[in-house]
Amino acid sequence: MKIRSVFDGGELRSEFEKNGIDSKFVPIIWKHLFLTLRNTNIKSNSDSDWEWEKYVPSLPCSAYSFLRSKFKTPLSSSLHSVFHSSDNVTSKLLIKLTNGAFVEAVIMRYDTRLGKYGGKPRPGGLRATLCISSQVGCKMGCKFCATGTMGFKSNLSSGEIVEQLVHASSFAQIRNVVFMGMGEPLNNYSAVVESVRIMTGSPFQLSLKRITVSTVGIIHAINKLHNDVPGLNLAVSLHAPAQDIRCQIMPAARAFPLEKLMDSLQEYQRKSLQKILIEYIMLDGVNDEEQHAHLLGKLLETFEVVVNLIPFNSIGTLSQFKSTSEQKVLKFQKILRGTYNIRTTVRKQMGEDISGACGQLVVSLPDKSLGNANPLTDIEDLVI
Ligand code: SF4
Repeated sequence: MKIRSVFDGGELRSEFEKNGIDSKFVPIIWKHLFLTLRNTNIKSNSDSDWEWEKYVPSLPCSAYSFLRSKFKTPLSSSLHSVFHSSDNVTSKLLIKLTNGAFVEAVIMRYDTRLGKYGGKPRPGGLRATLCISSQVGCKMGCKFCATGTMGFKSNLSSGEIVEQLVHASSFAQIRNVVFMGMGEPLNNYSAVVESVRIMTGSPFQLSLKRITVSTVGIIHAINKLHNDVPGLNLAVSLHAPAQDIRCQIMPAARAFPLEKLMDSLQEYQRKSLQKILIEYIMLDGVNDEEQHAHLLGKLLETFEVVVNLIPFNSIGTLSQFKSTSEQKVLKFQKILRGTYNIRTTVRKQMGEDISGACGQLVVSLPDKSLGNANPLTDIEDLVI
Protein backbone atom coordinates (compact mmCIF):
# COMPACT_ATOMS: atom_id res chain seq x y z
CA MET A 1 0.00 0.00 0.00
CA LYS A 2 1.22 3.50 -0.79
CA ILE A 3 2.33 5.36 2.32
CA ARG A 4 -0.24 7.99 3.29
CA SER A 5 0.95 9.27 6.65
CA VAL A 6 4.28 9.60 8.43
CA PHE A 7 2.53 7.67 11.24
CA ASP A 8 1.97 4.65 8.94
CA GLY A 9 4.53 2.75 11.01
CA GLY A 10 4.98 -0.43 8.95
CA GLU A 11 5.20 1.38 5.62
CA LEU A 12 7.52 4.07 6.94
CA ARG A 13 9.91 1.49 8.37
CA SER A 14 9.98 -0.53 5.17
CA GLU A 15 10.47 2.61 3.03
CA PHE A 16 13.34 3.61 5.32
CA GLU A 17 14.91 0.19 4.93
CA LYS A 18 14.57 0.36 1.14
CA ASN A 19 16.30 3.74 1.19
CA GLY A 20 19.08 2.64 3.53
CA ILE A 21 17.81 4.74 6.46
CA ASP A 22 17.92 3.28 9.96
CA SER A 23 14.37 2.71 11.24
CA LYS A 24 15.49 3.71 14.74
CA PHE A 25 14.78 7.27 13.55
CA VAL A 26 11.05 6.56 13.21
CA PRO A 27 10.06 7.08 16.87
CA ILE A 28 12.39 10.09 17.04
CA ILE A 29 10.56 11.69 14.11
CA TRP A 30 7.18 10.93 15.72
CA LYS A 31 8.30 12.40 19.03
CA HIS A 32 9.39 15.71 17.53
CA LEU A 33 6.26 15.94 15.38
CA PHE A 34 3.94 15.09 18.22
CA LEU A 35 5.49 17.59 20.63
CA THR A 36 5.65 20.34 18.01
CA LEU A 37 2.09 19.88 16.79
CA ARG A 38 0.66 19.45 20.28
CA ASN A 39 2.36 22.41 21.88
CA THR A 40 2.27 25.04 19.17
CA ASN A 41 -0.15 26.61 16.78
CA ILE A 42 1.90 25.66 13.75
CA LYS A 43 -0.47 24.73 10.98
CA SER A 44 0.24 21.23 9.77
CA ASN A 45 -1.35 21.90 6.39
CA SER A 46 -0.08 25.32 5.36
CA ASP A 47 0.69 26.07 1.70
CA SER A 48 4.46 26.18 2.09
CA ASP A 49 6.38 22.94 2.49
CA TRP A 50 7.03 21.77 6.03
CA GLU A 51 10.53 22.56 7.28
CA TRP A 52 11.54 19.07 8.37
CA GLU A 53 15.07 20.14 9.39
CA LYS A 54 13.73 22.87 11.65
CA TYR A 55 11.19 20.79 13.56
CA VAL A 56 12.81 17.35 13.50
CA PRO A 57 16.53 17.89 14.19
CA SER A 58 19.51 15.56 13.89
CA LEU A 59 18.38 13.17 11.18
CA PRO A 60 20.67 11.89 8.41
CA CYS A 61 20.43 13.79 5.08
CA SER A 62 18.86 10.76 3.40
CA ALA A 63 16.00 10.85 5.91
CA TYR A 64 15.32 14.53 5.20
CA SER A 65 15.34 13.90 1.43
CA PHE A 66 12.93 11.04 1.88
CA LEU A 67 10.59 12.97 4.18
CA ARG A 68 10.59 16.01 1.89
CA SER A 69 9.84 13.89 -1.16
CA LYS A 70 6.94 12.05 0.48
CA PHE A 71 5.39 14.53 2.87
CA LYS A 72 4.80 18.20 2.08
CA THR A 73 3.06 18.47 5.45
CA PRO A 74 3.72 16.60 8.71
CA LEU A 75 0.18 15.24 8.89
CA SER A 76 -1.69 13.81 5.94
CA SER A 77 -5.04 14.82 7.41
CA SER A 78 -6.15 18.30 8.35
CA LEU A 79 -8.42 19.59 11.05
CA HIS A 80 -11.37 20.99 9.14
CA SER A 81 -13.39 22.24 12.11
CA VAL A 82 -13.92 21.80 15.83
CA PHE A 83 -17.15 22.13 17.78
CA HIS A 84 -16.98 22.52 21.54
CA SER A 85 -19.91 22.04 23.86
CA SER A 86 -20.72 25.21 25.75
CA ASP A 87 -19.37 23.73 28.99
CA ASN A 88 -16.28 22.43 27.15
CA VAL A 89 -16.99 18.85 28.24
CA THR A 90 -17.24 17.54 24.68
CA SER A 91 -15.35 18.54 21.54
CA LYS A 92 -16.04 17.13 18.10
CA LEU A 93 -13.21 17.25 15.56
CA LEU A 94 -14.05 17.04 11.90
CA ILE A 95 -10.94 15.75 10.13
CA LYS A 96 -10.33 15.80 6.39
CA LEU A 97 -8.31 12.93 4.93
CA THR A 98 -6.06 13.16 1.87
CA ASN A 99 -8.73 11.50 -0.27
CA GLY A 100 -11.13 14.33 0.58
CA ALA A 101 -13.30 12.21 2.90
CA PHE A 102 -14.18 13.34 6.41
CA VAL A 103 -14.06 11.42 9.68
CA GLU A 104 -15.00 12.46 13.17
CA ALA A 105 -13.17 12.15 16.44
CA VAL A 106 -14.81 13.16 19.70
CA ILE A 107 -13.08 14.23 22.91
CA MET A 108 -14.95 13.67 26.17
CA ARG A 109 -13.54 15.28 29.29
CA TYR A 110 -14.25 13.72 32.66
CA ASP A 111 -13.82 14.86 36.19
CA THR A 112 -13.59 11.61 38.09
CA ARG A 113 -14.32 13.39 41.38
CA LEU A 114 -17.88 14.02 40.15
CA GLY A 115 -18.58 10.31 39.74
CA LYS A 116 -19.50 7.98 42.54
CA TYR A 117 -18.29 4.46 43.09
CA GLY A 118 -19.63 2.38 45.95
CA GLY A 119 -21.39 5.54 47.18
CA LYS A 120 -18.10 7.47 47.51
CA PRO A 121 -16.52 10.07 45.19
CA ARG A 122 -14.09 8.47 42.79
CA PRO A 123 -10.44 9.23 43.35
CA GLY A 124 -8.50 10.91 40.55
CA GLY A 125 -8.95 14.12 38.64
CA LEU A 126 -9.46 15.37 35.13
CA ARG A 127 -8.99 13.03 32.21
CA ALA A 128 -10.04 12.85 28.59
CA THR A 129 -11.22 10.03 26.38
CA LEU A 130 -10.98 10.17 22.61
CA CYS A 131 -13.44 8.32 20.40
CA ILE A 132 -11.90 7.67 16.99
CA SER A 133 -12.95 6.39 13.58
CA SER A 134 -11.37 3.48 11.74
CA GLN A 135 -13.21 3.60 8.41
CA VAL A 136 -15.04 6.08 6.22
CA GLY A 137 -18.56 4.64 6.30
CA CYS A 138 -19.18 1.04 7.32
CA LYS A 139 -20.12 -2.25 5.65
CA MET A 140 -22.06 -3.62 8.59
CA GLY A 141 -25.30 -1.78 7.83
CA CYS A 142 -26.76 -1.76 11.35
CA LYS A 143 -30.30 -0.48 10.94
CA PHE A 144 -30.16 1.94 13.86
CA CYS A 145 -26.91 3.62 12.84
CA ALA A 146 -26.44 6.59 10.52
CA THR A 147 -22.97 5.45 9.52
CA GLY A 148 -24.44 2.08 8.53
CA THR A 149 -26.74 3.78 6.05
CA MET A 150 -23.76 5.47 4.33
CA GLY A 151 -22.28 2.20 3.13
CA PHE A 152 -18.55 1.56 3.08
CA LYS A 153 -16.25 4.13 1.46
CA SER A 154 -12.68 3.36 2.55
CA ASN A 155 -10.37 2.06 5.25
CA LEU A 156 -8.18 4.44 7.20
CA SER A 157 -4.49 3.64 7.31
CA SER A 158 -2.87 3.11 10.72
CA GLY A 159 -1.29 6.56 10.43
CA GLU A 160 -4.61 8.21 9.62
CA ILE A 161 -6.05 6.60 12.75
CA VAL A 162 -3.10 7.81 14.86
CA GLU A 163 -3.37 11.31 13.39
CA GLN A 164 -6.78 11.65 15.07
CA LEU A 165 -4.94 11.29 18.39
CA VAL A 166 -2.35 13.86 17.30
CA HIS A 167 -5.07 16.38 16.37
CA ALA A 168 -6.98 15.75 19.60
CA SER A 169 -3.88 16.09 21.77
CA SER A 170 -3.69 19.81 21.08
CA PHE A 171 -7.08 20.18 22.80
CA ALA A 172 -6.74 17.77 25.73
CA GLN A 173 -4.36 15.33 27.30
CA ILE A 174 -5.86 12.09 26.05
CA ARG A 175 -5.76 9.22 28.51
CA ASN A 176 -8.23 6.76 26.95
CA VAL A 177 -8.94 5.89 23.34
CA VAL A 178 -12.09 4.08 22.20
CA PHE A 179 -12.62 2.81 18.67
CA MET A 180 -16.31 3.65 18.64
CA GLY A 181 -16.47 6.28 15.92
CA MET A 182 -17.21 5.64 12.29
CA GLY A 183 -16.61 2.10 11.01
CA GLU A 184 -16.19 -1.46 12.26
CA PRO A 185 -12.61 -1.53 13.62
CA LEU A 186 -12.13 -5.27 13.21
CA ASN A 187 -13.00 -4.96 9.52
CA ASN A 188 -9.85 -2.86 9.19
CA TYR A 189 -7.92 -5.23 11.39
CA SER A 190 -4.27 -4.75 10.49
CA ALA A 191 -4.45 -0.93 10.46
CA VAL A 192 -6.28 -0.89 13.79
CA VAL A 193 -3.82 -3.31 15.42
CA GLU A 194 -0.86 -1.32 14.12
CA SER A 195 -2.39 1.97 15.28
CA VAL A 196 -2.89 0.52 18.78
CA ARG A 197 0.76 -0.56 18.85
CA ILE A 198 1.85 2.93 17.79
CA MET A 199 -0.36 4.59 20.41
CA THR A 200 1.11 2.47 23.17
CA GLY A 201 4.70 3.20 22.10
CA SER A 202 6.80 6.37 22.11
CA PRO A 203 5.79 9.20 22.07
CA PHE A 204 2.12 8.54 22.90
CA GLN A 205 2.65 5.96 25.65
CA LEU A 206 -1.02 5.20 26.19
CA SER A 207 -1.70 2.24 28.40
CA LEU A 208 -3.17 -0.73 26.51
CA LYS A 209 -5.73 -1.17 29.25
CA ARG A 210 -6.99 2.31 28.39
CA ILE A 211 -7.70 1.47 24.76
CA THR A 212 -11.01 -0.17 23.83
CA VAL A 213 -11.99 -1.61 20.48
CA SER A 214 -15.69 -2.00 19.81
CA THR A 215 -16.99 -4.59 17.38
CA VAL A 216 -20.28 -6.02 16.17
CA GLY A 217 -18.62 -9.42 16.63
CA ILE A 218 -16.27 -10.29 13.77
CA ILE A 219 -15.49 -13.75 15.11
CA HIS A 220 -12.30 -14.59 13.17
CA ALA A 221 -10.80 -11.23 14.22
CA ILE A 222 -11.79 -11.60 17.89
CA ASN A 223 -10.12 -15.01 17.84
CA LYS A 224 -6.71 -13.51 17.06
CA LEU A 225 -7.03 -10.18 18.84
CA HIS A 226 -5.69 -11.29 22.21
CA ASN A 227 -2.59 -12.83 20.64
CA ASP A 228 -1.89 -9.72 18.58
CA VAL A 229 -2.54 -7.12 21.28
CA PRO A 230 -2.82 -8.77 24.69
CA GLY A 231 -4.35 -6.41 27.24
CA LEU A 232 -6.57 -4.50 24.81
CA ASN A 233 -10.15 -3.94 26.02
CA LEU A 234 -12.94 -5.42 23.97
CA ALA A 235 -16.45 -4.00 23.66
CA VAL A 236 -19.10 -5.95 21.80
CA SER A 237 -22.14 -4.36 20.23
CA LEU A 238 -24.48 -7.23 21.08
CA HIS A 239 -27.80 -5.35 20.92
CA ALA A 240 -29.93 -8.52 21.06
CA PRO A 241 -29.98 -11.75 23.08
CA ALA A 242 -31.13 -13.94 20.19
CA GLN A 243 -29.84 -14.58 16.68
CA ASP A 244 -33.11 -13.72 14.90
CA ILE A 245 -33.38 -10.29 16.54
CA ARG A 246 -29.70 -9.59 15.91
CA CYS A 247 -30.15 -10.37 12.22
CA GLN A 248 -33.18 -8.13 12.07
CA ILE A 249 -31.33 -5.06 13.37
CA MET A 250 -27.74 -5.94 12.38
CA PRO A 251 -27.60 -7.65 8.98
CA ALA A 252 -23.93 -8.54 9.48
CA ALA A 253 -24.96 -10.84 12.33
CA ARG A 254 -25.99 -13.45 9.72
CA ALA A 255 -22.31 -14.06 9.06
CA PHE A 256 -21.50 -14.26 12.78
CA PRO A 257 -24.02 -16.54 14.53
CA LEU A 258 -24.65 -15.63 18.14
CA GLU A 259 -23.72 -19.06 19.48
CA LYS A 260 -20.33 -18.96 17.74
CA LEU A 261 -19.81 -15.37 18.83
CA MET A 262 -20.41 -16.29 22.48
CA ASP A 263 -17.96 -19.20 22.16
CA SER A 264 -15.39 -16.82 20.76
CA LEU A 265 -15.99 -14.31 23.60
CA GLN A 266 -15.69 -17.10 26.16
CA GLU A 267 -12.33 -18.02 24.70
CA TYR A 268 -11.24 -14.37 24.56
CA GLN A 269 -12.10 -13.97 28.22
CA ARG A 270 -10.42 -17.22 29.18
CA LYS A 271 -7.18 -16.06 27.56
CA SER A 272 -7.32 -12.37 28.47
CA LEU A 273 -8.90 -12.57 31.96
CA GLN A 274 -10.48 -9.22 31.16
CA LYS A 275 -13.99 -7.90 31.52
CA ILE A 276 -15.87 -7.44 28.26
CA LEU A 277 -18.08 -4.41 27.74
CA ILE A 278 -21.44 -5.35 26.23
CA GLU A 279 -23.24 -2.57 24.39
CA TYR A 280 -26.99 -2.94 24.10
CA ILE A 281 -29.07 -0.36 22.30
CA MET A 282 -32.66 -0.29 23.58
CA LEU A 283 -35.18 -0.31 20.72
CA ASP A 284 -38.83 -0.05 21.65
CA GLY A 285 -40.71 -3.31 21.12
CA VAL A 286 -37.71 -4.96 19.42
CA ASN A 287 -35.24 -6.02 22.11
CA ASP A 288 -36.37 -4.27 25.28
CA GLU A 289 -39.01 -6.57 26.81
CA GLU A 290 -38.60 -8.46 30.09
CA GLN A 291 -38.15 -11.72 28.21
CA HIS A 292 -35.19 -10.16 26.36
CA ALA A 293 -33.61 -9.10 29.65
CA HIS A 294 -33.89 -12.69 30.92
CA LEU A 295 -32.47 -14.10 27.69
CA LEU A 296 -29.57 -11.63 27.90
CA GLY A 297 -29.00 -12.43 31.56
CA LYS A 298 -28.81 -16.16 30.82
CA LEU A 299 -26.51 -15.56 27.86
CA LEU A 300 -24.07 -13.50 29.94
CA GLU A 301 -24.29 -14.93 33.42
CA THR A 302 -21.15 -17.03 33.05
CA PHE A 303 -19.11 -14.07 31.74
CA GLU A 304 -17.30 -11.21 33.46
CA VAL A 305 -19.05 -8.34 31.69
CA VAL A 306 -20.36 -4.84 32.13
CA VAL A 307 -23.56 -4.22 30.20
CA ASN A 308 -24.15 -0.69 28.98
CA LEU A 309 -27.80 -0.08 28.06
CA ILE A 310 -28.07 2.66 25.46
CA PRO A 311 -31.45 4.35 25.05
CA PHE A 312 -31.91 4.80 21.30
CA ASN A 313 -31.99 8.35 20.04
CA SER A 314 -33.49 8.76 16.59
CA ILE A 315 -32.44 12.39 16.20
CA GLY A 316 -30.62 12.84 12.92
CA THR A 317 -31.67 9.46 11.51
CA LEU A 318 -34.55 8.41 9.29
CA SER A 319 -35.07 5.53 11.61
CA GLN A 320 -37.86 3.01 11.77
CA PHE A 321 -37.12 2.50 15.48
CA LYS A 322 -38.46 4.25 18.56
CA SER A 323 -36.83 4.91 21.91
CA THR A 324 -37.58 2.70 24.88
CA SER A 325 -39.24 4.48 27.81
CA GLU A 326 -37.03 5.26 30.78
CA GLN A 327 -39.20 3.08 32.98
CA LYS A 328 -38.68 0.07 30.70
CA VAL A 329 -34.92 0.66 30.56
CA LEU A 330 -34.75 0.71 34.35
CA LYS A 331 -36.82 -2.48 34.57
CA PHE A 332 -34.42 -4.14 32.10
CA GLN A 333 -31.46 -3.01 34.19
CA LYS A 334 -33.09 -4.27 37.38
CA ILE A 335 -33.55 -7.76 35.92
CA LEU A 336 -29.92 -7.98 34.78
CA ARG A 337 -28.64 -6.72 38.10
CA GLY A 338 -31.12 -8.34 40.48
CA THR A 339 -31.68 -11.74 38.88
CA TYR A 340 -28.35 -12.30 37.17
CA ASN A 341 -25.97 -10.15 39.21
CA ILE A 342 -24.61 -8.49 36.08
CA ARG A 343 -23.12 -5.03 36.42
CA THR A 344 -25.37 -2.90 34.22
CA THR A 345 -25.17 0.81 33.51
CA VAL A 346 -27.57 3.02 31.61
CA ARG A 347 -26.48 5.76 29.33
CA LYS A 348 -28.63 8.76 30.06
CA GLN A 349 -28.51 10.53 26.74
CA MET A 350 -26.82 9.93 23.40
CA GLY A 351 -23.61 11.89 23.04
CA GLU A 352 -23.24 12.46 26.78
CA ASP A 353 -21.42 9.27 27.53
CA ILE A 354 -18.55 7.86 25.55
CA SER A 355 -19.52 4.26 26.10
CA GLY A 356 -21.89 4.07 23.15
CA ALA A 357 -22.14 1.62 20.35
CA CYS A 358 -19.75 2.19 17.49
CA GLY A 359 -21.13 4.67 15.01
CA GLN A 360 -23.57 6.13 17.46
CA LEU A 361 -21.54 9.22 18.21
CA VAL A 362 -21.74 10.07 14.55
CA VAL A 363 -25.48 9.76 14.81
CA SER A 364 -25.96 11.58 18.00
CA LEU A 365 -23.85 14.69 17.95
CA PRO A 366 -25.36 17.69 16.23
CA ASP A 367 -23.33 19.15 13.38
CA LYS A 368 -22.87 22.69 14.52
CA SER A 369 -23.24 22.86 18.25
CA LEU A 370 -23.10 20.64 21.25
CA GLY A 371 -25.28 21.24 24.24
CA ASN A 372 -24.24 21.18 27.85
CA ALA A 373 -23.51 17.78 29.24
CA ASN A 374 -23.92 16.44 32.73
CA PRO A 375 -21.05 14.70 34.54
CA LEU A 376 -20.06 11.77 32.40
CA THR A 377 -19.32 8.15 33.03
CA ASP A 378 -15.95 7.38 31.52
CA ILE A 379 -15.42 4.03 29.83
CA GLU A 380 -12.39 3.60 32.06
CA ASP A 381 -14.75 3.40 35.03
CA LEU A 382 -16.66 0.62 33.32
CA VAL A 383 -13.99 -1.70 32.01
CA ILE A 384 -11.01 -1.26 34.30
S1 SF4 B 1 -23.12 0.56 14.60
FE1 SF4 B 1 -20.91 0.37 14.14
S2 SF4 B 1 -20.74 -1.55 12.98
FE2 SF4 B 1 -22.91 -0.96 12.92
S3 SF4 B 1 -23.12 0.20 11.00
FE3 SF4 B 1 -22.73 1.67 12.67
S4 SF4 B 1 -20.50 1.99 12.59
FE4 SF4 B 1 -20.93 0.10 11.47
